Amino acid sequence: MRRTKITDVLKSDAIGSEIVVKGWVRTRRGNKQVNFIALNDGSTIHNLQVVADVEVFGEELLRRVTTGASIAVRGELAPSQGTGQNVELLARTLEVIGDCDVNEYPLQPKKHSLEFLREIAHLRFRTNTFSAIARVRHAMIFAVHSFFSSKGFVNIHTPIITASDAEGAGEMFQVTTLDLENIPRNEEGKIDFKEDFFGKATNLTVSGQLEGELAAMGLADIYTFGPTFRAENSNTSRHLAEFWMIEPEMAFYDLNDNMDLAEEFLKYLIQYALDNCSDDLQFLSSRLEEEEKNKKADERSMELIEKLKFVLNNEFIRLTYSEAIEILKESKPNKKGQFKYQIEGYGADLQSEHERYLVEKHFKKPVILTDYPKEIKAFYMKLNDDNKTVRAMDVLFPQIGEIIGGSQREENYDKLVARMQEMHIPVEEMWWYLDTRKFGAVPHSGFGLGFERLLLFVTGMGNIRDVIPFPRTPKNAEF
Ligand code: ATP
Ligand code: MN
Repeated sequence: MRRTKITDVLKSDAIGSEIVVKGWVRTRRGNKQVNFIALNDGSTIHNLQVVADVEVFGEELLRRVTTGASIAVRGELAPSQGTGQNVELLARTLEVIGDCDVNEYPLQPKKHSLEFLREIAHLRFRTNTFSAIARVRHAMIFAVHSFFSSKGFVNIHTPIITASDAEGAGEMFQVTTLDLENIPRNEEGKIDFKEDFFGKATNLTVSGQLEGELAAMGLADIYTFGPTFRAENSNTSRHLAEFWMIEPEMAFYDLNDNMDLAEEFLKYLIQYALDNCSDDLQFLSSRLEEEEKNKKADERSMELIEKLKFVLNNEFIRLTYSEAIEILKESKPNKKGQFKYQIEGYGADLQSEHERYLVEKHFKKPVILTDYPKEIKAFYMKLNDDNKTVRAMDVLFPQIGEIIGGSQREENYDKLVARMQEMHIPVEEMWWYLDTRKFGAVPHSGFGLGFERLLLFVTGMGNIRDVIPFPRTPKNAEF
């Protein structure tokens, strides 16, 4: 008999029918006559209650039905006697597939800290919290593709190994097959990368954008969704060394079109989560509420589902960087010295404390900041007529700060080359990128959404290490 998934069993009204379920035991309790087994198979946050007659199965077998053991049960679907579920399974046969030594098994049926669960990331898929996150993550991956596909965007796989260091500043992981014990040197005594696998120095990508732009110059609307690597040594709750990024790139889009798309995209994803992940979101919401109890009243975040709806139902505020600086300069926390980084005025790079102040305290809405000083943004952003600011946009969210970074791109060959020279970007090496500005250049725009930042928001989790199955962070690459 084929196994029925527990999610389908719980929705079923085929009372009296015989089914087979398989999964992992969460708990077993009961008395001398009857045992109740809470069984989960990962298909839903909810457990199926299996009712087992002690006389039928014997105490010896039931003793092996421990937390963590895997079992197969054939039985009859019956209306549930207890509350919280409609149906339960009256066991007819019960087989232990894999025993679990409870003395060694680290996952006990009690609340474990998230820090502890990170140390046993190989097992945390078996918890309510992490299985819920994994299902929401999957739903969001699916929604990303469905959003862009429905708009006729073409998904492009951009390279993971790259020889261009366009974003610059030593944040990249080097890729090499050179023998580190015996590094070849050239006449000047420098490392001879001609001897390396690709005949030049290579790194893991920090963004697929530049290659995405090439594709957009023929396909018009493209998006990438791939792994991204940054060796930034920032041990924060919002940075990973390996994360996933979605980068759409659109020909004929100006910055306004870009902002419209970003807002529509984020709202689509959130609506998708509300429509398709309600059980998991409900669970994550109560988890968050429990956690927030320890915080002071004014530091507590909104209830999760309320917060998601709040983003859906509000238009994002759009304002320039300069306007934001004025607001921040005059803000209470700035005047009282409560920001870690004081805002002196125009030119300051905004930290997440400032971004969150704008969103959570000042506007109480998601915010899109535009027109940043060129000095604090990348070389490829389109220069405004003031020659001071660029057509950048950062989308700022409550709890997260920056969730999207994007811009209209500089399509003017001469201006782009001038910016590259100013910023010491090797112009010759980038010949292929510059070619697109020579052959039928068009205005175009794009942005990058950090997938795990999105998941932080949607799941209400506080640490980015908990929304990716196996986080990579400084000094940590276990599993
Ligand atoms: P931040 O200032 O927060 O470090 P950034 O300005 O470096 O971000 P971008 O280069 O614009 O970010 O990257 C685009 C998006 O990728 C960001 O808006 C964010 O959502 C995400 N992102 C950037 N760095 C990381 C990281 N280390 N871990 C996870 N997500 C990241
Ligand atoms: Mn960064």
